[in-house]
Amino acid sequence: MQSGGVQSGAVGTEPTVLMGTIVNPAGLTLAKIVPQTRVPVFASAGLGASPTWHAFAADQVGIAFTDAIGVVGDQRIRIDQEAMRTIDTGLAWAPGEFFSQAGEPIPQCARGTLRRVVDRLAAAGLQALVGHEIEFVVTGPHGEREPSDLWAQYGAAGVLEHEAFVREVLSACESTGIGVEQFHPEYGHNQFELSVEPLDPVSAADQVVLTRIVLGRIARRHGLRISLSPKPFADGVGCGAHQHISLRRGEAPVFSDGSGAAGMTVDGEHAVAGVVDAMIELQGVLGGSVVSGLRMLPGQWAGAFACWGVENREAAVRLICSGPSTPRGANLEVKAIDGSANVYFATAAILGAALRGIDARMTLPPQVIVDPSTLTEAQRTDAGIRPLSADQSTVVDTMDSSPVLRDILGDPAVDALVAVRRYEVTHFPDHTAQTLADRFRLAWSV
Ligand code: GLU
Ligand code: MG
Repeated sequence: MQSGGVQSGAVGTEPTVLMGTIVNPAGLTLAKIVPQTRVPVFASAGLGASPTWHAFAADQVGIAFTDAIGVVGDQRIRIDQEAMRTIDTGLAWAPGEFFSQAGEPIPQCARGTLRRVVDRLAAAGLQALVGHEIEFVVTGPHGEREPSDLWAQYGAAGVLEHEAFVREVLSACESTGIGVEQFHPEYGHNQFELSVEPLDPVSAADQVVLTRIVLGRIARRHGLRISLSPKPFADGVGCGAHQHISLRRGEAPVFSDGSGAAGMTVDGEHAVAGVVDAMIELQGVLGGSVVSGLRMLPGQWAGAFACWGVENREAAVRLICSGPSTPRGANLEVKAIDGSANVYFATAAILGAALRGIDARMTLPPQVIVDPSTLTEAQRTDAGIRPLSADQSTVVDTMDSSPVLRDILGDPAVDALVAVRRYEVTHFPDHTAQTLADRFRLAWSV
């Protein structure tokens, strides 16, 4: 270790630099770089950044100004030195968080918001672990479609077509300390999924940011890019960013070893009830971009209905039960999330909704054991199954007027999320699925 804690490795003649990142409300990963000697300053005083960082829009040019976010004022990004990682010889990384010049947390900061929600869980005696799935499509350097003549759904040929990329990603993850659960070709052409190990919520979200950086670096070496867009190509399969949530009270799991539905504890039932109840209001945080609606449709395994069910891939909340085949234990997979979401806010929203369900002792609705799209609308209404919206204007309005979300994330964070997402809806009103997918294909790439 050298000063500032960056492992320098074999530095040679190359100076070691550190890249600190934050993820803004539009889901963009923004960065500042320092030479190694400045790492301690980046971690203590912090580096200046305009409040407009919270308002940079996903079209990669616009700023969604609000009454609270303008050109006057300055904030500080401080990196979390304990979360620092060496990515490669000469390049280290750390996640950052926003503070005021006086050192107060900034309420629009997603990482700080998630930390506060985790503290609220802890005060209620609960600890969470979160495992992330990162789905992406490999493209050419300008987002062009790559050949995929041999691609079959989850086909081995897809791996061999990109073998060097796949192997380098795995070895880079290993050397960076990213715990990979599995890496597999997906349903869509040139689509992959990298699942990373469950960690505490803040570390897990940090790990997603780091993994995206690692993926982007390796892709570049092969003349490729990765698209994390919810719908990289209008005629192709969507990309999700599912999160697997488990909760413990002390040493006891909440979603298993109980006497409730599907083996859940009483807390588990309330938590699932809370997430399902809030799902429609959460949608703007989980998949609020102007492209998200292209994915949020039945038949996409995107969880397009607010309901829950054991191993139900069309439910927004899929319960995975504990057993000999699930060494990580029971967990909730929230499927409605996509890669345009701010990963910290998304986890915060889900955990906050789960806690609300527990606090209010919400009643668990019956589980749904069929594909909800095979039911008639009347049957769905009778069963309390509500469709998520594919209309982003509605999604943004619902987010804006959600007391549940405002209670979980706080008004400044929700206002910033609403501003960037409303900007997208109002600036791209007449676009077709194709032009939207094309325009935003690399918007969330790193
Ligand atoms: N690609 C799907 C989505 O957009 C998920 C497929 C899967 O379940 O792995 O969420
Ligand atoms: Mg998948």
